[in-house]
Amino acid sequence: MLYTSTRGQTDMVCSAHAITRGLADDGGLFVPQKFATLTLDEIVAMSELPYAERAAKILSFFLTDYTEEELLACTSAAYSEERFSGFAAPLKQVKDKIAVLELWHGPTSAFKDMALQLLPHLLMKAIEKTGEQNDIVILVATSGDTGKAALEGFADVKGTQIIIFYPDDGVSDIQKRQMITQQGGNVNVIAVHGNFDDAQSGVKEIFSDENLMEELKEKGYAFSSANSINWGRLAPQIVYYFSAYADAVKAGHIVAGEEINFSVPTGNFGDILAGYYAKCMGLPVHRLICASNTNNVLSVFLNSGKYDRRREFHKTISPSMDILISSNLERLLYQITEEDASKVANWMKELKEDGFYDVGGKVLAKIQKTFFGTWVDEIETKETICNVFRDKNYLLDPHTAVAWRACEKYRMLSSDEKYCIVLSTASPYKFNVSVLEAIKPDISAKELDPFAALHLLSEVSGTVVPKQLADLEQKPILHNEQIEKHKMKETVLKILKL
Ligand SMILES: *Cc1c(COP(=O)(O)O)cnc(C)c1O
Repeated sequence: MLYTSTRGQTDMVCSAHAITRGLADDGGLFVPQKFATLTLDEIVAMSELPYAERAAKILSFFLTDYTEEELLACTSAAYSEERFSGFAAPLKQVKDKIAVLELWHGPTSAFKDMALQLLPHLLMKAIEKTGEQNDIVILVATSGDTGKAALEGFADVKGTQIIIFYPDDGVSDIQKRQMITQQGGNVNVIAVHGNFDDAQSGVKEIFSDENLMEELKEKGYAFSSANSINWGRLAPQIVYYFSAYADAVKAGHIVAGEEINFSVPTGNFGDILAGYYAKCMGLPVHRLICASNTNNVLSVFLNSGKYDRRREFHKTISPSMDILISSNLERLLYQITEEDASKVANWMKELKEDGFYDVGGKVLAKIQKTFFGTWVDEIETKETICNVFRDKNYLLDPHTAVAWRACEKYRMLSSDEKYCIVLSTASPYKFNVSVLEAIKPDISAKELDPFAALHLLSEVSGTVVPKQLADLEQKPILHNEQIEKHKMKETVLKILKL
């Protein structure tokens, strides 16, 4: 299987190359040339397999330059019971026809672990295959969860350096604490004065600076990305859509072949795009509900065909979805236009230069066949956390609550009552203050220190604080560098001693 750029100006490459490079040379994103199809029997049979085998099976369709043994070795190391405290992606039936797919049992308590525990293993193999001699520098812009998940995945991985940029006041206390306490000889964590889009734009600029790339190459470095623009991040996310479907069949909640919906809390459009790819591969998916918070640029796009980033940026209680530029949408546009790379390249140019593009009615209608976009405000998010906890004794984090509410809105508007799986992307403990405010409005949770809030949430909810979060309190702070947003490149050069 070969990979091509969404902007059509580069040669086809194998998967190992796509994973080591991250971004295509023309600024586009790597996409597979075609999608294999699974039969219903193959899908249903997955419920009998451990998660690592489910993952190896799906990945074998995409990473064809890896052997089956190599893939299984990678997935077994990534999704071990120790790393994920049990099964990696359990499906919880919370209410009639609504289940929650918990994707946060990994070491950082957010769904980014599903891909970032695996990516380092895939990357190390890829380096062997491509004969890459240089040290790989992983550059990450994070709205909070990616940073820590990448750090956990890459800390002390031989032949790599990892540099994380996070917006200094765009992440939760716990997220920040997770990053600045990270150990490892190859890790660098830097606060940027700005928001997530500033950090992401800075990283993209570094990637597209050809002179810099040449210079680095000469000095023995190659850049790669752990952001969801990397194909190695996306492919592992396709797995849990199949996995959840197979488990729902096995548990008798649906019958094999029945079409279902997924509701996905969306930011960079990586998670939900993986669901679309699963549909392309034969998974019986009717609708993908794209749930946004107050930063509703995607919701507006999915209802109008107009993508307009010229808008105010809001800081919300679901910060991992606080985003104005949703990078992976480019991959969807490529697929929907039947691989019209010049169209896609044009829209992306318009977005960069004018902050706006319009895909027109025909393309929009095609997108709307599968995607439904809606958004959920801060009050609704808290109400949802509160209601679901009160009625079902189940605790949602704010991101998951956005998706839950979006599913309810979709049902109201469409009268489509199909079985729906809500993707749960973070442990409620990771956003403990907002969750406490929702379920205990009489306590002023904001004034608690983050660790007192962890313990209080445990008391109030009768659930256990994940050990890796409880342990943070004892860990020394190792990273406190802060920079202006125009100093990112300079900082990278300094770290690499160039
Ligand atoms: C990253 C993240 C999201 C958004 O996922 P995308 O793939 O960027 O759409 C949602 N919720 C949480 C908790 C996240 O960390």
